Amino acid sequence: MDLDDTPQQAEYRTKVRGWLAEHAGQAPAQRRAGAVGDGEEEQRYSAARRAWQGTLAQAGLAGVTWPEAYGGRGLGPIEQVIVNQEIAAAGVPGILDAIGVGMLGPTIIAHGSEEQKERYLGPMLHGEEVWCQLFSEPAAGSDLAAVQARATQQPDGSWTLNGQKVWTTNAQFASFGLLLARTDPDVAKHKGLTMFIVPMDAAGVTVRGLRQISGEAEFNEVFFDDVKLAADAVVGGVGAGWGTALTTLMFERVTIGLGGEGLGYNSDRFAGPIAADDEARRDPAVRHRLGEIASDLLSVRFTGYRTLTALQRGQIPGPEAGLAKVTIVNAAIAAGELIADVIGPDALADGGEWSYLISFLPGLKSAGGTEEILRNTVGERVLGLPPEPRLDKGIPFSELRAKEGSKA
Ligand SMILES: Cc1cc2nc3c(=O)[nH]c(=O)nc-3n(C[C@H](O)[C@H](O)[C@H](O)COP(=O)(O)OP(=O)(O)OC[C@H]3O[C@@H](n4cnc5c(N)ncnc54)[C@H](O)[C@@H]3O)c2cc1C
Repeated sequence: MDLDDTPQQAEYRTKVRGWLAEHAGQAPAQRRAGAVGDGEEEQRYSAARRAWQGTLAQAGLAGVTWPEAYGGRGLGPIEQVIVNQEIAAAGVPGILDAIGVGMLGPTIIAHGSEEQKERYLGPMLHGEEVWCQLFSEPAAGSDLAAVQARATQQPDGSWTLNGQKVWTTNAQFASFGLLLARTDPDVAKHKGLTMFIVPMDAAGVTVRGLRQISGEAEFNEVFFDDVKLAADAVVGGVGAGWGTALTTLMFERVTIGLGGEGLGYNSDRFAGPIAADDEARRDPAVRHRLGEIASDLLSVRFTGYRTLTALQRGQIPGPEAGLAKVTIVNAAIAAGELIADVIGPDALADGGEWSYLISFLPGLKSAGGTEEILRNTVGERVLGLPPEPRLDKGIPFSELRAKEGSKA
C-alpha cells in the first residue's frame, strides 16, 4: 500500500484542514478523557458536543462514508481516516455519537426500511438524537446470541419487551437504542433473535448509571418492563436479528481498528515523564519497557494500514483487526504501569494526566470483544486452529440451561 496521500486525497485533506482552521473557534473546549462534571455541567457539555456534531455534519465531516441520500458524503474509509486525523491534529473534539454514526446508522442503512432511514438517520448524523447499543446483558456478552431480553408479538402486530441490558454507553442521554431481543425461544439460539429500534423515553424503560473507578458513569444498566413497541420497530426482519447484529459488530471492529494508535496515548507522550526523570531516563529496564510499548504501538499502526488496504479494495477487514485492539489496550496498560512506577502514587492523583489511563483503560479489555474471544477468533480464522467445542449448536434456546443467577 502507498502510505502517501494520492493527489485527490491531498486535496481533500487541505480542504478539511482549511475548514477546521476556520471553524475550530466554534468547537467546545477539548476535555481531558475521563473528566467528570456534576449533572448540570455534564448536560451542558453534551449539548455543546451535540451542536458541534451538527456543525461537523453540515460541513460533511460526519458520516463521511454514509450515502449522500442520507446526509453523508458517499466517500471511502480513507477519507474518513483523513477527517479523523485532521480533527485530532486541530485539537477539537470529534462527533459525540460515534456509536450511532459509526455502527448503528450503518446497520440501519444496511438492513432498515426506507421509512426508518428517512426518519432516523438525519437527526442521528446531526447529533439531534443520540443513540445507544442495547446488545450486552448480564448473562450475554461474549456469548451475545444468548440474549434473554424477550419481545413477544401481540395480535395487532405490536411487540411487548421485557428484560435487562447492561454496559449501555450513552443511554443516559440517548433518544433511541438498537436492541437485540429473543422473539422465538423454540429455535436454536442464533435463529430466534430480532433487532428493534427502542425509544428510550417509552413507558417502562429505566436507565441506571454505573459509576466506574475512573469516576465517570458513561455506561448504564437499562431495564424494560412491558415496553410497547410498534410493529415497524423491527429492523431487518423478524428472526433475522443475528445477521443484523453481525453487521453492527463488523462496523464496531472497523471503528475500533481505525481508532488510531494507542487511543491517543502515543509512545512520545509516554516517553515524556520518563525523559523528565533523571534516574528513570538512564535505567535500562525502564528503557526496555518503553521500547516494547513503542514497538507494539508501531505494529498496531501497520495493522491499521492493513485494515485500510482491505477497506480501500472493498473487502471486509479480517479478524486480525481485532488483534489491534488487544495490542493497543495491553500496550496502554503496560504504559500506565510504567508511568506509575516512574512517577509513583502521584500518577493516580485525581484529575492528573495519567489517572484516567491507569484506572479506565484496563476496562477496555472487555469492550468490543474480550481479549480471550478475539484471540480465539484469530486462532480459528487466521491460524486455522480447531474451533472451540460448541455444545449448544442446533439446540432450541428454551432447552439450554440458563447461566446460574440469571433469569430465564
Ligand atoms: C467501556 C465499555 C463500553 C461498552 N459499551 C457497550 C455498549 O454500548 N453496548 C453494549 O451492548 N455493550 C457494551 N459493552 C459490553 C461489551 O461488549 C462486553 O463487555 C463484552 O462483550 C464482554 O462481555 P461480558 O462483559 O459479559 O464478559 P463475559 O462474556 O462474561 O466474559 C467474562 C470473562 O470470560 C472470558 N470468556 C468468556 N467466554 C470465553 C470463551 N469462550 N473462551 C475463553 N474465555 C472466555 C472473557 O474473555 C472474559 O475475560 C461495553 C463494555 C465496556 C468495557
